[in-house]
Amino acid sequence: MTTTPGTAPDLEGWTHAHSGKVRDLYVPAGATSGAGGDVVLVVASDRISAFDYVLPTTIPDKGKILTAMSLWWFEQLEDVVPHHVVSLDVPGQVAGRAMICRQLRMYPIECVARGYITGSALSEYRATASVCGVPLPPGLVESDKLPEPIFTPAAKAQMGEHDENITFEDMAERVGDTAARRLRETTLEVYERAADLAARRGMILADTKLEFGASPHPGEPEIVLADEVLTPDSSRFWAAADYEPGRPQLSYDKQFVRDWLLSPDAGWDRRDDTPPPALPDDVVERTRERYVEAYELLTGRTFTA
Ligand code: ATP
Ligand code: MG
Repeated sequence: MTTTPGTAPDLEGWTHAHSGKVRDLYVPAGATSGAGGDVVLVVASDRISAFDYVLPTTIPDKGKILTAMSLWWFEQLEDVVPHHVVSLDVPGQVAGRAMICRQLRMYPIECVARGYITGSALSEYRATASVCGVPLPPGLVESDKLPEPIFTPAAKAQMGEHDENITFEDMAERVGDTAARRLRETTLEVYERAADLAARRGMILADTKLEFGASPHPGEPEIVLADEVLTPDSSRFWAAADYEPGRPQLSYDKQFVRDWLLSPDAGWDRRDDTPPPALPDDVVERTRERYVEAYELLTGRTFTA
C-alpha cells in the first residue's frame, strides 16, 4: 500500500498553482493573467482527509472514482445550474482523475444543504434549537428528517482549520445580498434534484456541500457550480433500507477510517495535536470498496480503474 500522500505530479504544459487537502490545481504553463489563464486543471489525488488532517495513507483509485462521480452529477444537474467542466483532454498521467475547468472567482462559502439533522448541525441544534440561524422544531433526534431542506452556509477555513457555520446574514455581508440569495436558491435546487435521484437508487442524501464560482467575464452566467459535487467526500449518503432515526446511520463515506482512527487500535488521540497514523490495509480496502459501491449504486455504471 502507498503510505505517503506524495506531492502534486509535474505535468507537461501545466504549472502547479495550489494544493488543497485532496486536490491539486494547475494553470496552463506560461499563462499570464488574462491570456490563456481562463482554465484550471483540477486533479483529484487519492489523498483522504479525516478530522481536518490529510492522512499519511492514500486510498487507491479514490481520485478516479470521485471524478467519475462528479462528472456524472454535473451532467444530471445541467438544467439546474451551469458547471465548470470544459474538457477531459488532460495529460495521460492524470487521465480519469482530472478535469479542465473554467477558472472562476470562487465564493468563499461552503454552500451546505441539509435534509436531515446530524453532525455539526445536530450539535448546534442541541445547543441553540437552530442551525446557522434557521430555527427548527423541538424534539428532533439524531438523523431525523427535517420538515424541509435547509441552507446552512459555512465560511471556508484556511488549510488545517475547521469550516465555520455562519448565518445567512453573515454570508450576505461577505458576498452581497443578490449573490447570497442566488446561491441559497441554487443550493437547495441542487439538493432536491440530487436527493430525488439518489432516492431512486435506494440512497438518502442527508446533506451536501457545494462550492460555486462566478465567471470573471461580464455577461456570462453569474453562478457556476464548481469543485467536486455530490461525492462521499462532500456529502452524506445513507442506505435507505437501514435508515432509522435516533441513531447514526451507515454512510457511504469515510466511516471505516473515522471509526478506526478513534479506536484503541490506532493508538491516536485527536486532542493531542499529533498527525494521525497510517491506516491498516483492511481499512484502506474496505474504504475503497465503499467508494466504488457508492459510485456504482448511484450511476448504475461499473467502475473500471
Ligand atoms: P478542503 O476541501 O480539503 O477543505 P480545499 O477546498 O482548499 O480544502 P481541495 O478541495 O483539495 O482543497 O482543492 C480544490 C480547490 O480548488 C478549492 O480551493 C476550490 O475552491 C478550488 N476550485 C474548484 N473549482 C475551481 C474553479 N473552477 N476555479 C477556481 N478554483 C476552483
Ligand atoms: Mg474542497
